[in-house]
Amino acid sequence: MTLKIICYSLLILIHNSSIQARNLENEYKYNQERDKLIEEEEKLSQIDQINLNEEEKIVDDYLHFLKVQEFLKTSDSSIGFPPARPIEEKLNEIRSSEVFQELSKLPKGGNMHTHENYILGHRAVLEILFNAPEFEDLYVAEESNSQSRHYSLDLFVNPPPISSGVKWVKVKDNSTYTIDFLVKKHTLMNILTDEAKKYPTDSRMRWKLMDTLWGKVTSTFRHVNIRAKFLTELLSTVLKENVQYMETRASRIQRLYILDKSGGSSENFGKKYIDESEEYPGKTNIDFTREIVNNFTASNPEFIGYKIIAASNRKTTNERIKNDLIISKEMFEKAGDMIKGIDLVAEEDSGKSHMFFLENLLNISGNPSPLYHTAETNWPDDLLPSPFDNDPVSALQNTYESVLLGAKRVGHGIGFFKHPYLLNELKKRDVAIEICPVSNQILGYTADLRNHPGIGYIRNGLPVVLGSDDPGGFGYDNFTIDWYEAFMGWGLDLRDLKKLASNSIKYSGLNSEEKTIAVQKWESSWNSYISTTRLKACKLQFKIDPTFNRVLPREGALNGGEKVHIYGRHFEKGICQTIKCKFGNYEETEGELLNTYLINCQVPSKSNNDVEEVPISISLNGTSFIDTDLSFTFKY
Ligand SMILES: [Zn+2]
Repeated sequence: MTLKIICYSLLILIHNSSIQARNLENEYKYNQERDKLIEEEEKLSQIDQINLNEEEKIVDDYLHFLKVQEFLKTSDSSIGFPPARPIEEKLNEIRSSEVFQELSKLPKGGNMHTHENYILGHRAVLEILFNAPEFEDLYVAEESNSQSRHYSLDLFVNPPPISSGVKWVKVKDNSTYTIDFLVKKHTLMNILTDEAKKYPTDSRMRWKLMDTLWGKVTSTFRHVNIRAKFLTELLSTVLKENVQYMETRASRIQRLYILDKSGGSSENFGKKYIDESEEYPGKTNIDFTREIVNNFTASNPEFIGYKIIAASNRKTTNERIKNDLIISKEMFEKAGDMIKGIDLVAEEDSGKSHMFFLENLLNISGNPSPLYHTAETNWPDDLLPSPFDNDPVSALQNTYESVLLGAKRVGHGIGFFKHPYLLNELKKRDVAIEICPVSNQILGYTADLRNHPGIGYIRNGLPVVLGSDDPGGFGYDNFTIDWYEAFMGWGLDLRDLKKLASNSIKYSGLNSEEKTIAVQKWESSWNSYISTTRLKACKLQFKIDPTFNRVLPREGALNGGEKVHIYGRHFEKGICQTIKCKFGNYEETEGELLNTYLINCQVPSKSNNDVEEVPISISLNGTSFIDTDLSFTFKY
């Protein structure tokens, strides 16, 4: 018996090693298998459905060239590759890089995951406040018994008394409270402690800091004049980075006010709310927002739109959620052009699970669309970090509820990689995942963005869109940062970028008519970006000569006619040029520049059956050939 097993094992061993030996010996077959694997992977990711035209291929090569330059500049440990380093250390370097500059011009479609009050850079927010006539009435919480109130800003005719627990002083009368000072107190990057930096995946530690920042200035955004300026500035900032569409989480009801100096609104410290006797809750703000967006679109016709996802805080009660959902539904029925979904916000680990709110969430039955933050957590299924003892399950289990409750998109979705079956369900049900790489890093989920699960989702063929979450709250105001990190760290090419951008329209809450217009606007921006960038790429002069290090396979069919891969460095001289290959004295064949490390060459067909080894030379300009020192054998 034992002998039988040994013999059998030996047989398997011999069998396996003979396959390996055969493959290794026969590079021709090995390469066919390798190409097949690549093809299958492209099918799985569905990237094979994105075909680049000749202009786009040049831009793709150019972007890869810039990526490699950036990699060569930063990959040494003494400098640090940005996706592998904390954003607060690399922000300025990223912003001044050529890759970032180029990607900022790329038409990105929509930014699908943001929170309205924390989109615009905080400096820009403060500049609006400091330059508005309302600056006269701007107060700062100089002292407060609550950390989250400290250094908050608000507008009053007369501030609440000190007995309210806050000492309010006028900003204009206190020279300490400059824009620089307040930016440092109001943004996460600037208040990260050494302890938080030491433990980059202690998400709780980071959220505790972030939780002190919410609402620092948001009350001022409800003043009609400030809101008008804030929204207009927000839209022009996103459009500057070629984001043409926004879907943003915002509180359902934002009561707008003016300052009433007549003394008639003293109970609200001078805030006179202008939403008395609304037809439905939130109408005043929705109408106000719509008008600003329409005015902006009229002067910027390439802009597609700005829509709201009604958000509730997941730390609240079931009664409150029930009430919120009734209001959200009414808002959606009355203003479906502006309200595109519902969501639960705040840290999942310290809030309540979807299951906690299950009865109420079931009642919404898909209208408006559920777009739930899901599995933004490091914790496993069987540990419960939530402080709410009556919450039955962990944040990671929100994965089940989001699938079953019919989410149209899920926010973050980090933990789905631990639930591959559910991940596949998302794919089957065509649910998009809103990935926010930099948010995930700064809030303590993915310290090294090269290993973010988002790339796995993309390669698995899940519909992914990119979002920025709370850039203003984190301490920057760029919407290209996430694109930079993903492009640099995930091996993305122009096909991937194109897919991310087009996904953002496909999986938006726009109706089919709106989508048709959105696609036209985005395509027109895309085409003009491609033409301009191609022209730029074609004018470049590259100094460094290419080197060649490998052909795969080194041998092929007796009659030729197939493709081989030529590997090397610095193929950038071939950008925007005709690539040609020459095998011995056979007629020149076509080559294709895949990126600056790889050229595919067509092997010439030959009619004789002679085994023959020939040298390979390559032309990167269509005329002069360079000897590669590589050879190819017509053999099988
Ligand atoms: Zn979010």
